[in-house]
Amino acid sequence: MREKTGLILNMQRMSTEDGPGLRTTVFFKGCPLRCRWCHNPESLSYKRELEWFDDRCIGCRTCEKICPVKAIGFENQKLVVDYSLCTRCMKCAESCPANALEAKGVFWEAGGLADELAKDHAYFGEEGGVTLSGGETLAQPDFAVALCEKLHQKGIQVAIDTCGMVDFSILKRVFPYTDIFLYDIKIMDSKLHKKHAGAGNEKILSNLRLLAAMIENSDKNLWIRTPIIPGATDSHENIRQIADFLIAEAGTVLSRWELCAFNNMCESKYKRLGYNWDYAGKEKLTRSHLDELLKAAVKNENLRDRTFITGSAKLEV
Ligand code: SF4
Ligand code: SF4
Repeated sequence: MREKTGLILNMQRMSTEDGPGLRTTVFFKGCPLRCRWCHNPESLSYKRELEWFDDRCIGCRTCEKICPVKAIGFENQKLVVDYSLCTRCMKCAESCPANALEAKGVFWEAGGLADELAKDHAYFGEEGGVTLSGGETLAQPDFAVALCEKLHQKGIQVAIDTCGMVDFSILKRVFPYTDIFLYDIKIMDSKLHKKHAGAGNEKILSNLRLLAAMIENSDKNLWIRTPIIPGATDSHENIRQIADFLIAEAGTVLSRWELCAFNNMCESKYKRLGYNWDYAGKEKLTRSHLDELLKAAVKNENLRDRTFITGSAKLEV
């Protein structure tokens, strides 16, 4: 039987932010949502892309000359790729003498990737393991299930970071091989969810209800993550609504709720990919604003000892 193949953006070793302990995080390419604040713009497309580093480019135009379909051009000394023509052959990146063009996305077979990840076993310890993130891990379902199964067979703890915008049958398939679900709940009002994330949230909420019921009778863990984004998710009302939903639907199985503070570190990535970012120039949130939201989140004292702010705040003088 042919091995399942998936498109992976990259791997981050010794990661401490995607689950318990020390981990290796694997970023899948492709996502069904379009959150306006997305911190991984290079993971949104299901296809390979090109990232251009203007500070490395020597202006030789080798890329332009070698492209078989004339998809590369320069406008105001800025490299522009016409993805309606580009066949993703990556000849331009391979021939760039200055490494100024990087191909984003590598195809892996599930077995080969599991073997590669197993090399990190030494630092996983009792708590750590592998986190599959993205993009959306479960948007490549056959590959994700095959990879999880192989990691599970090797005795590696597996966490899946998901936006929940998938058919529930996929969560069911991956469930036996997953130890921790890191599940995003961003906005409770479906119209606002559609405005800021590109789709309504009905499927996400219904999947969480069903997943929580499965976790209830298992040894799996559930973490919820809520990005705290200025003008989108950071109202007291939204945070209170999420808290009420979590208590009602997942209160008995929820291990941890993370309020993940907005950061603007991805701004340069948008520029290198040639995309605009709605949050360009936006500052981080203040500590006092984050603390107020934490207070709103833990009004129900059931959530008090399992709700945390992660990430950093704006420096205030
Ligand atoms: S081949 Fe590389 S260095 Fe030359 S113009 Fe293209 S991106 Fe710049
Ligand atoms: S990946 Fe291939 S088709 Fe696309 S711009 Fe580069 S050389 Fe042209």
